[in-house]
Amino acid sequence: MYDYLIIGAGSAGCSSAYFLHKEGKSVALVDREGIAGGASGAAGAFLSPLPGQKNIYNSLVNNALDFSLDFYQELLPEAVDKKGVLRVANDNFDEDKLSQNSIKYDYFDSKKLHDISKNFREIEGYFYENAAVIEPIQICNKLTKGCDFYKMDVKELVYKDGFYIVDNIKAKNIILAQGVSSSLVEIPYMKISPIFGLRVDVKSTTKVPFNIHKAISISTNKQDGTLSIGATHERHDSAKMECLTTCDKCSFYVKGDDEQVKSLLKQADELIKLENLEVVKIYKGARATIKSYFPVIGKIVDYESSLKKHPSIQNGTKIPQEDLEYYPNLHLINALGSRGFVFGPYLANILTKNILHNEPIPQEISTGKLFYKMARKSKF
Ligand SMILES: Cc1cc2nc3c(=O)[nH]c(=O)nc-3n(C[C@H](O)[C@H](O)[C@H](O)COP(=O)(O)OP(=O)(O)OC[C@H]3O[C@@H](n4cnc5c(N)ncnc54)[C@H](O)[C@@H]3O)c2cc1C
Repeated sequence: MYDYLIIGAGSAGCSSAYFLHKEGKSVALVDREGIAGGASGAAGAFLSPLPGQKNIYNSLVNNALDFSLDFYQELLPEAVDKKGVLRVANDNFDEDKLSQNSIKYDYFDSKKLHDISKNFREIEGYFYENAAVIEPIQICNKLTKGCDFYKMDVKELVYKDGFYIVDNIKAKNIILAQGVSSSLVEIPYMKISPIFGLRVDVKSTTKVPFNIHKAISISTNKQDGTLSIGATHERHDSAKMECLTTCDKCSFYVKGDDEQVKSLLKQADELIKLENLEVVKIYKGARATIKSYFPVIGKIVDYESSLKKHPSIQNGTKIPQEDLEYYPNLHLINALGSRGFVFGPYLANILTKNILHNEPIPQEISTGKLFYKMARKSKF
């Protein structure tokens, strides 16, 4: 019998396993694809600040970045390459966001960039020091040290006599960290949109001095000399929302790699000339996002039972979150969006403190917030 069984062994699940295990809990993870077999294994795994005038969302991202960068550097320094990022504006709006913010940056014009490397194209941008690229698979494996892992596809959760049974595994508590996959319990207020992306690892004789980000990202050279080029933009066809990460019906997977890889490499070439380029490996994946872009953590509210118990919620009556109905001992961490490795450890730490020490979860990332939003709308 485990204290915690985590379903999904990506950045979210592995980070949760780490903090729970650190607190002395027995933890098992299950995943149908293996550790970091979903979006987390496909990620370029860039960690960079979110510039712009301070608001709730970019404060969350930038706090998470500070926490997670320090965390990874302590956990596995050899899997972290912190050389900063050059952000190149897409348009005027982007330019404003990059230049007007509380984060320290250096402006690099094209002359300065050419002094750094003659391979830079005629571009200019904003350099942020606090940015890195990490090795996602190594990190996820390290996070799960001391926890058991089972490769299996979980079809249902059975709750009986105060504990969950998943195949032959028994656990007192479950954490759902399923990314884009269909949730094992009904969570109608959390509508996940999968957004597909591509990462191409290449070899090149060009030295890329730091990460570069415009609509796509190019990493600095890694220890083995390769570079990652990645982007996640393609929205899933909503008619096929049930598709899994590697669904062969989804147009993203059906479309030939050639066209997508060519487009990614072309965009990279508009930023820096990568000489003697050779494609080494192609990764595809889908990241989970909700409409507000905020990630979500916390106990899972049972929507139907909560509304049945407190129908006046639909009229706007304020019922405290602790009086809602919850699935027993069931938590989630999801919707990490395009910043799964920025958010993973930061959110898992908050979730663990909430579960074990009853510390509050900020409203903007709580399951409760989404529940109230949908419940109040449901009357109309
Ligand atoms: C191409 C690409 C590039 C990206 N680049 C970056 C980047 O540069 N920086 C960054 O921070 N983020 C990046 N992201 C986003 C990041 O990868 C995700 O936000 C993050 O990996 C999400 O982690 P997760 O644990 O929530 O989901 P996942 O890693 O998808 O993990 C969920 C896991 O749950 C498993 N699962 C679900 N249901 C079941 C079930 N019923 N039974 C068994 N197993 C189940 C799945 O197999 C999957 O492995 C990128 C994503 C993609 C696709």
